[in-house]
Amino acid sequence: MSNTKKTISKKVKAAKPAAKAAKKPLVVKKPVVTKKPAPKPSKPSPKKAIPKSVPKTSPTKFKLPVKKTSSATKKPAPAPVKKAVPAPIQKPVPTKTKALTKVSAPAKKKVAAKSVIPPEPKISTALVVSSTGMPRIASLPSAPPPSPKTTVKKAFSLPSISSEPIAAAKAPVMSSEKPVASKSGALFYDSHMHTPLCKHAWGEPEEYAAQAVKAGLKGIIFTCHCPMPDGFWPTVRMSESEMDVYLDLVQRTANAFKGKLDVCLGLESEYFPGYEKWLETMHQRASFDYILGAVHWQSKEYLNKFEVGTIENFRRSYFENLALSAETGLYDCLAHPDLVKNYHPDSWCFAIIKNTVTTVLDRIAKTGVAMELNTSGLNKSYSEMNPGNEMLRMMAERKIPIVIGSDSHRAPRVGEHFITALNNLAEAGFEHVSYFKKRQRIDLKISDVISSIKRATDANA
Ligand SMILES: [Zn+2]
Ligand SMILES: [Zn+2]
Repeated sequence: MSNTKKTISKKVKAAKPAAKAAKKPLVVKKPVVTKKPAPKPSKPSPKKAIPKSVPKTSPTKFKLPVKKTSSATKKPAPAPVKKAVPAPIQKPVPTKTKALTKVSAPAKKKVAAKSVIPPEPKISTALVVSSTGMPRIASLPSAPPPSPKTTVKKAFSLPSISSEPIAAAKAPVMSSEKPVASKSGALFYDSHMHTPLCKHAWGEPEEYAAQAVKAGLKGIIFTCHCPMPDGFWPTVRMSESEMDVYLDLVQRTANAFKGKLDVCLGLESEYFPGYEKWLETMHQRASFDYILGAVHWQSKEYLNKFEVGTIENFRRSYFENLALSAETGLYDCLAHPDLVKNYHPDSWCFAIIKNTVTTVLDRIAKTGVAMELNTSGLNKSYSEMNPGNEMLRMMAERKIPIVIGSDSHRAPRVGEHFITALNNLAEAGFEHVSYFKKRQRIDLKISDVISSIKRATDANA
């Protein structure tokens, strides 16, 4: 169908720069042992290799002791609870961070470090950059699939989700930290970006950090895709054994930019019903600043389970899953919350789905979880930020906290379209915009953020 052709040709175009970027070979350097983090990395060398293990002596503020994740979590398994019961899932308590700063890395890390970076050139042949910016395996069902289904396999019923939310909604945790502008006047954070560990992002984390400084930001949060078990869509994420490499990579960048940019640790955590226990364990692997929940409809696993009715039904089930993800209590924020508009983008119509979105937003608002305005939507098949302005207005009406993320998979995108995003938020009725540190929310006035970006951009020009 013509719709599909159009989408596919866009995808191919999108894949080109990716392939080009992938050609640059990564240089693997030996770990440089220094006692202290380099004090002034005036220009982070783009040649710096990934992965480079962080010297054992360097501060490892991000790490928690590695827990065996294979079987039971230490806590008693949180039984499904009714909404009224306080959440059994505990966020990492800030005091832990202090106690654990000296935890040294487990030995197995070295092994993992050697095989971290996928041979990049292969990516361009094996993967196609999809309409959503995530690559898909060429053999997977296309997304969007070749033709809209005209026959309904079975009447739509909301996905057969057996798993009850594992935690009651938690009250939002607000940081007592007063946001203070950096020397350049910067105040705001880009709260969504990736590293090459996810196999579809390019460039050294230091390059992302350098771009953030240029973009007038005070900090960034890396949110690479979390490991999943059972071979769940393995081509777009780090493996579990690479988690320590990820922590080291972010720590290395944080050390290099100390005093210039606040580099924080997050995770984009794949919500898929049935994996809540696994995710809970993953979230406890380190002192994360931010856990960003994400429903990715384009995985083979997701399509197999939910692509069972009409296009509209598929879209509705996406929003249903979004609400469920908020109700698990596992997340601080929900990523790109209307990503499904890239499924058959040519027939996307918000008016048709609006009733569903209304109910879902009511449910999300009750949980206190924030939602993201993702600027990378402008580069996708349905070229609009995620979510679009109408949904943003509905979120503002419900006072759902909002976080901005570029979802960068390449350094030059960090901080991209932030002024437009902030203006969209103001027009939609938001007065504040947020980011997270130590899993606690920090709210800033939108007008302050806009002027901070302008001021810091000028100061760093
Ligand atoms: Zn995502
Ligand atoms: Zn992402």
